Amino acid sequence: MRIVLSGAAGFIGSHLCDRLLAEGHDIVGLDNFITGSKENIAHLAANPHFRLIEHDVSKTIEVSGKVDAVMHFASPASPNPDSPYGYPQLPIQTLKAGALGTHNLLGVAKASGARFLLASTSEIYGDPLEHPQKETYWGHVDPVGPRSVYDEAKRFAEAMTMAYYRYHNLDTKIIRIFNTYGPRMRLDDGRVVPNFIGQALRGEPLTVYGDGSQTRSFCYVDDLVDGIYRLLFSNEHDPVNIGNPAEISIREFAERISAMFQPPSPITVHIERRGSGDPQRRQPDITRAQTVLGWSPKVPLDEGLARTVRYFQTKIPKQRS
Ligand code: NAD
Ligand code: UDP
Repeated sequence: MRIVLSGAAGFIGSHLCDRLLAEGHDIVGLDNFITGSKENIAHLAANPHFRLIEHDVSKTIEVSGKVDAVMHFASPASPNPDSPYGYPQLPIQTLKAGALGTHNLLGVAKASGARFLLASTSEIYGDPLEHPQKETYWGHVDPVGPRSVYDEAKRFAEAMTMAYYRYHNLDTKIIRIFNTYGPRMRLDDGRVVPNFIGQALRGEPLTVYGDGSQTRSFCYVDDLVDGIYRLLFSNEHDPVNIGNPAEISIREFAERISAMFQPPSPITVHIERRGSGDPQRRQPDITRAQTVLGWSPKVPLDEGLARTVRYFQTKIPKQRS
């Protein structure tokens, strides 16, 4: 297939490129590098099956030639207001990537009769009142809170995708991605995995926001990419959660990472939570992915973290092991 992939230079997008190319597909990547990095795709520069166009997907998109699939992964993704790469500092860009970007890429898919896959998020469940989260849960989202620029953009994107499915008979798919980690995350985008590993490598205390009782469920990127690939070739049109159901408190997560280093890094527990809207619990119900895609995560947390630490060790000059 010839696949248009937005966000190709990002963390997930670049891993997706590797998998799609390994499966024999051609990729036209679109990225404006607002949070991604040329380094993530540098190894693909000489690959004749890969082309990267520097372009903001919230502006009109023209792709010449036939297109078989369009995959929309372009969006800032970190909620951390302290990082220039977090969506609180890129609010309009985030809204536009989710709203205008989705509309533009659906247009590209419609013009070619191509299938379309949207990267949505567990954030559409907000600070969930249902636990674990099934796809049937409508969510608990503050429409004007600090996370709203991301959450509402993704909710709009899902609605727009379903409109193209229902009214234009487009072959669409929606993946709701839960916290994913691995090599090629930005060290400075403020998400918990690069923050904790970066701090541990520098010998600094790990900064737990709040009392650390909030939970997340972390999925290694290779597992996620496998779920995305299966969904792309499925006949499922309703949203599908992809994530690792192994739930862990952020306090325990910090302890797990700290214990990977000698001597272990101290852990600082902040009294204040990181602004309002930090979800208290998050865990995917993956029954639908298991049933319709035959998918389950395979990589245990300790193994995925070890691979991720090895990557970040190459990014921090003075490091501990
Ligand atoms: P990332 O920041 O590493 O990648 C996003 C990529 O999109 C970057 O390369 C960025 O430059 C590009 N981009 C952003 N806006 C753009 C625009 N207007 N035009 C062109 N390119 C643009 O983040 P990621 O973690 O790889 O996330 C990728 C996708 O997966 C996002 O849509 C995100 O919402 C979704 N997602 C990720 C997670 C996760 O845990 N990583 C969880 C849920 C959803
Ligand atoms: N977090 C933390 N310390 C950090 C960064 C994040 O305690 O240095 C917490 C954050 O408050 C949240 C969880 O880790 O509860 C996951 O945060 P992240 O930014 O990775 O993404 P989220 O899941 O909130 O979208």
